[in-house]
Amino acid sequence: MHPHIWYPFTQAKTALEPLKVKSAQGVWLELENGHKMIDCISSWWVNTYGHCHPKIAEAIYQQAQQLEQVIFAGFTHDPAEQLAEKLVAKLGAPFNRVFFSDNGSTAVEVGLKMAYQYWVNQGQARSTFLAFDGAYHGDTFGAMSVGARSLFSAVFSNLLFNVEFVPFPSTYWGDRTAEETEAKVLSILEKALDERGDRIAGVMIEPLVQGAGGMRMCRPQFLQKLRAIAQSFNTLLIFDEVMTGFGRTGDWFACHKAGVSPDILCLSKGITGGFLPFAVTVCSEEIYHAFYDDEPLKTLYHGHSYTANPLGCAAALAGLELMTEYEPQFRSMEAKHHAQLAQLKDHPAVEKLRVTGTIAAMDLVTQERSGYLNTISLEIRQRAIAKGLLLRPLGNVLYILPPYCIRDTELAQIYQGIGEILTDLSKDFL
Ligand code: PMP
Repeated sequence: MHPHIWYPFTQAKTALEPLKVKSAQGVWLELENGHKMIDCISSWWVNTYGHCHPKIAEAIYQQAQQLEQVIFAGFTHDPAEQLAEKLVAKLGAPFNRVFFSDNGSTAVEVGLKMAYQYWVNQGQARSTFLAFDGAYHGDTFGAMSVGARSLFSAVFSNLLFNVEFVPFPSTYWGDRTAEETEAKVLSILEKALDERGDRIAGVMIEPLVQGAGGMRMCRPQFLQKLRAIAQSFNTLLIFDEVMTGFGRTGDWFACHKAGVSPDILCLSKGITGGFLPFAVTVCSEEIYHAFYDDEPLKTLYHGHSYTANPLGCAAALAGLELMTEYEPQFRSMEAKHHAQLAQLKDHPAVEKLRVTGTIAAMDLVTQERSGYLNTISLEIRQRAIAKGLLLRPLGNVLYILPPYCIRDTELAQIYQGIGEILTDLSKDFL
């Protein structure tokens, strides 16, 4: 480890030495020592079109020679205006206003501020949110507050604001059917909103797939009912699509796939295809209007040095073009995952195989059930590296979430490698 770098998650005794990456192309990463690996998880779910895509690189290069950065208070520019227009057109109604920021946590933070202040501006103090067990929304204080209390936020728990958590209606919840699970969760939500709705600013959810919480998946039907409940109890619905946005669930956005429009939508990660930190929070005209007034205090006071950075906007615009180009790939990946998973479904180490769009996941049956960085996840990471695969299980959950440019032969290579690793591991751990 470099003596002057504070690497994330590396102070634990069990942490692995970071590997030095020299270059990347498509789905492949190359280490300094020449070892090559397939990036099976799109490097924390951001490299949607593969690494170093020449179209995005070129767009950034062109923009860098024209306007690289300008204060976004009192000034505007073409890349921001074009991006807002294209995003709003693609997202469809009711989305009409785009607020720019720099990363997923901040997109969520802005969404929370919008929801909270929306009510303040109407003379209502609603200081609670509803969120879901197992959720991860980022590392800033607001985002940690709506995230499930976990290893990431435990030490800061005294500083987090008030949030009520309800179970996430995973389609794999004990012996109950999906319908029974959903009905139970919806009744908890309804009760909370019925009794305390005048204090609840909004409901925050990762739609269809809960990412860091273990790639847990819920059905579109649940989100449709959640939408109806939020509406009838007059609270705001916020979708954190930081991970699920831009093709991940097999449609452009999870809200499209589910056929549900939230009031506020948070996007980041895939938006620049892995090139630049960038994010947007998108809302309806109705929400925007609650902030548009002669009274200065009604404005949303939030702005970053790099808000709407022109290079980020240029990368995101090129990314939107690539989304159209790669649409057949992200739409067909679900079937490809299913076909490959067939070889693992009877493996004794595997249970609860699941797929939503480009995301495949499975739970591993091990003696050691808990812990984000448990022995099994570290073993798998190391054995995968030796086989030329970048895998990073979430505790006992092994998932595959590759860039859309992956070839069928490369996808097959990932699954074959996983099969071999699990068989080897079964002897020692499972
Ligand atoms: N929301 C979700 C659903 C995420 O998966 C993440 C990142 N894993 C975040 C928010 C935070 O994004 P960032 O790491 O860019 O701050």
